[in-house]
Amino acid sequence: MLWLKACRRCKGDLAEDRDIDGRYVACFQCGRRLNEVEEQLIRRVTAKERVASLAR
Ligand SMILES: [Zn+2]
Repeated sequence: MLWLKACRRCKGDLAEDRDIDGRYVACFQCGRRLNEVEEQLIRRVTAKERVASLAR
């Protein structure tokens, strides 16, 4: 999963990745990781957009 220009700090691109602790979302440009709340928010927005595109 990829979110373009979604980083709050630098407006960079966020990408989902995984390590030994599990999945996380981090910025390509500045390396900032989203906290749990931010991650849930961005996933919810993505899910809504998907539903909207399916309805068209
Ligand atoms: Zn960033």
